[in-house]
Amino acid sequence: MSLAETEAWAEEQGLPAYRAKQLRQWLFKGLAASFKEMTNISKDLRAQLEEKARIDHLSLVKTQVSKDRTTKFLFKLEDGHFIETVLIPEREHFTLCLSSQAGCAMGCRFCLTARQGVKRNLTAAEMVDQVIHVKRSMSDPDRLTNIVFMGMGEPLANYEAVVRALGNLISEEGMNFSHRTVTLSTCGLVPQIRRLGKEVRVNLAVSLNASDDETRTFLMPVNRKYPLKSLVGALKEFPLLNKKMITIEYVLVGGVNDRDEDARRVAALLKGLRAKINLIPLNPHPEVDLAPPSAERVLRFQEILIEHRFTAMIRKSKGQDISAACGQLSRKYVRSP
Ligand code: SAH
Repeated sequence: MSLAETEAWAEEQGLPAYRAKQLRQWLFKGLAASFKEMTNISKDLRAQLEEKARIDHLSLVKTQVSKDRTTKFLFKLEDGHFIETVLIPEREHFTLCLSSQAGCAMGCRFCLTARQGVKRNLTAAEMVDQVIHVKRSMSDPDRLTNIVFMGMGEPLANYEAVVRALGNLISEEGMNFSHRTVTLSTCGLVPQIRRLGKEVRVNLAVSLNASDDETRTFLMPVNRKYPLKSLVGALKEFPLLNKKMITIEYVLVGGVNDRDEDARRVAALLKGLRAKINLIPLNPHPEVDLAPPSAERVLRFQEILIEHRFTAMIRKSKGQDISAACGQLSRKYVRSP
């Protein structure tokens, strides 16, 4: 619920408006998992709330810690589907990689999540609850400052719920993340990118992954519907926050999109766009018939982009040993007994 909805709900329950704020404070700041923990609320009222409302949505099934300290959380949804969330340690802070759908419908050839198809959209509560669960597990939850919608699923294919979740993540009376440190990543759903630009202040990342339509369609079927020209057109019109850039993600696949001419075409395609480019060498897995690029190709690709005056970073994949890196999130469909 948004603040307004919580207030309306409180009123329906015959509660004064300040209770809505108090409850939200407990949920979003106090990370309360139950009404019992809300110690400044009378016992009677807590009992009444417990009868009428529910807090937790996800159950934590398993936590795995990589040797680089990346932590992967496996959650079970109430209807038996599974999702994964990844906590990534950075130098000064932590970044949390959220899932927006159980599975994914986009069918990208290099991504393991795509193999399972889409099970269903997550609700806004299921997205926000990933953050609450993870914060609860941290010794210093304030160090979680960055959120990326880069886990399982295509966030813009679950537009309403994602925007609803962003509302509670970014608002001051909610979880109080800054809109400058929350990033939504998309495979390139053009109409939703345009809508997002008008409706929400959030950083945008786009998985480009190729510099010509033929290769991009081979890697990402979504390109058939929204080819490069329409995608780049939408990006050029996307309103950017002060001093911010669009992040372009480019998964390098050996022999497919990692040649010099690919790099030069990327530079030409993005000319005039305020963009920084993250190069991600493919994380291979046995179910995918694509190879990672050579180290030499990765460096050369970066060099060409830099020669064209782009900021281009090579992203080291964290959490590979626990299958927590880009494109490695997957859970086979299991129903609870
Ligand atoms: N659907 C959104 C959010 C998922 S983000 C999107 O497409 O942007 C996941 C990121 O990981 C994307 O940039 C994707 O291109 C990248 N990725 C997927 N599979 C990968 C793999 N095997 N190796 C490296 N990166 C991968």
